[in-house]
Amino acid sequence: MVGLDGMPFQLIRDLSADNTMPNTGRLIEEGVFRQMASSIPEISSVAWSSIITGANPGEHGIFGFTDLATNTYRLTFPNFNSLKMPPFWERENSGRSVILNVPSTFPARPLNGVQVSGFVALDLERSTYPPALVPWLESLDYRVDVDSQAGHQSLDLFLRNLDRTLQARIAAYRHLWHGEDWDTFVLVFTGTDRLAHFLWDAYEDKSHKYHSTFLDYLHQIDEVIGEITHKMNTTDSLIMLSDHGFELLECDVHINFFLSQQEFLKFKKNPPQSLADIDYGTKAFALDPARIYINLEGKYPRGSVKPEDKELVIDELEKSFESLKVNGRKVIEQIYRKEETYEGPYLDQAPDLVLLPGKGFNFKASLKAGSLFEKGILSGKHTQKDAFLLVSDSSEDIVLNRPSVADVVGIMSRLREKHGNR
Ligand SMILES: [Zn+2]
Repeated sequence: MVGLDGMPFQLIRDLSADNTMPNTGRLIEEGVFRQMASSIPEISSVAWSSIITGANPGEHGIFGFTDLATNTYRLTFPNFNSLKMPPFWERENSGRSVILNVPSTFPARPLNGVQVSGFVALDLERSTYPPALVPWLESLDYRVDVDSQAGHQSLDLFLRNLDRTLQARIAAYRHLWHGEDWDTFVLVFTGTDRLAHFLWDAYEDKSHKYHSTFLDYLHQIDEVIGEITHKMNTTDSLIMLSDHGFELLECDVHINFFLSQQEFLKFKKNPPQSLADIDYGTKAFALDPARIYINLEGKYPRGSVKPEDKELVIDELEKSFESLKVNGRKVIEQIYRKEETYEGPYLDQAPDLVLLPGKGFNFKASLKAGSLFEKGILSGKHTQKDAFLLVSDSSEDIVLNRPSVADVVGIMSRLREKHGNR
């Protein structure tokens, strides 16, 4: 499995057609290439958790990069230990695996094989199983993630960092591919997402200074795809995929700012330092990117919505959100209600509503925002409906027509059955 974090269906199709990604193009001709739905919300931690477990957030328990400790406003940072279901490589008869750079798998833990965690990872020691591999990774100058801070200082600095991260990732994959005995190999490129956040405008604009830099990066990854397809034998299968799509970011929208403007959200002091400053009278608040929680009595310290009033508040919120427009354009494309979106034992922890942004809008739940709309340095933002899935096997019964990230584990099992692999 080769993951290209954040790469949309359309981009893969276009770059395959114009020969930037010729090896991927050949796989598209021979295999099955589909647009894939991301998770709700469309962020890496949630989407990758669904990809590796085959489950929705109500079952695997990951709803975002942040969450709240039970019955508090205290932010927590879910990691691999918070995932409530085993990833496919920890299941019975999964064979021996090399799992390189899958997001939200920190800290690494014992498995039959090798694992190096993807972002968010706090240090290389706890990202690596077995730990004996750490000195070798260090000798490669291996980095789990690009230093995105560099991108805020200088794009040239960021691009050098991005390239070094990619070269070390490729070196690590080559070494593990040949040095380990494995049944399943997973390699995820996450620099693609970073590149798209900083330089989506460069991709769309052919006259942009970094347009060819953007294409070169994808071309390098395509060369790795070519290398891998040459090493495959007839009973091997290759799955290429992304966890969400990307498009041009026109404007950030601060959801908690909107909620306080509409008097759904009240703070004890302004500006608030954290959600702990939420005051009585608050009906709803948001966590990144646009997960809305009803401030329910009995559930939160200053819960102010009685359970019997919850539906009414949800209706009010929906009405407010639907009225949010810029130059006649709706800012919110779709509102997902908890019960219609998630199922499973962790439904209680799910946000009550999740907002899907309209084209060009990027949602944030910052508490420090001084305005509803803002345009920052980033030029790309995630999209929900156009991740991609490419399977090097043309049997139509293996891949559904409209797959979603939670279907990937099932596709892998069908491929294994067909080819008599584990
Ligand atoms: Zn992602």
